Amino acid sequence: MFRAALFTLHPDMFPGPLGASLAGEALARGLWELQTIDIREHGIGRHRAVDDTPAGGGPGMVIRADVLAAGLDARLPADDPRPRLLMSPRGKPLTQARAREWSLGPGVVIVCGRFEGVDERVIEARGLEEISIGDYVLSGGEIAAMVLLDACVRLIPGVMGRLESGSDESFENGLLEYPQYTRPRGFEGREIPPVLLNGDHAKIAKWRRESAERITRERRPDLLKEP
Ligand code: SAH
Repeated sequence: MFRAALFTLHPDMFPGPLGASLAGEALARGLWELQTIDIREHGIGRHRAVDDTPAGGGPGMVIRADVLAAGLDARLPADDPRPRLLMSPRGKPLTQARAREWSLGPGVVIVCGRFEGVDERVIEARGLEEISIGDYVLSGGEIAAMVLLDACVRLIPGVMGRLESGSDESFENGLLEYPQYTRPRGFEGREIPPVLLNGDHAKIAKWRRESAERITRERRPDLLKEP
């Protein structure tokens, strides 16, 4: 089963949106599990301090290596098979391929940063892989972790029906998705492309393939380049 363990300073943010709709129903059905761990429980002293000023000066605060390491060590078995991820704008981009890979495994351990981030030494010492959800800076890793988990959970076997299993979707075949239409047939003078209404499945597949290629060429030519 896919088990997510989340280290955060804001456990109250979870499950949040992951408790609703597809992911929430799957959570309720026991198709995945969400454990939140408050990093502050492993904080230091009476005030449970988790952060301190950056070595070398500069603005903000940094999450202490010893505090985060203590949390990880106390709450995860030494032989925990799950990948250990740290949400970080410096990380490797989150991709559909990674989400699919994780969704088929034992789950993920996710550390959510806050402030200026976490002490570099705990990233190295506990083998955290940094993952980014895009080229912008959020105020914390929690929303990023929700994005990562939402992308994984919908791909867990049994969460989506077989018919909606997502194999045609954007990024699954290196292309963005073709346009979708539903009733009514006419909308403010715009018609559904007739090819979609004549039941010729080969023609429909060809139209979808060509549309996907055109849209990808126009919007995301970078996806068409060989890696
Ligand atoms: N000083 C850091 C940014 C810290 S933002 C830097 O310049 O790289 C605070 C926290 O928000 C980070 O530790 C990370 O956990 C999270 N975060 C911010 N932007 C993110 C992004 N694009 N992807 C994933 N996590 C992000």
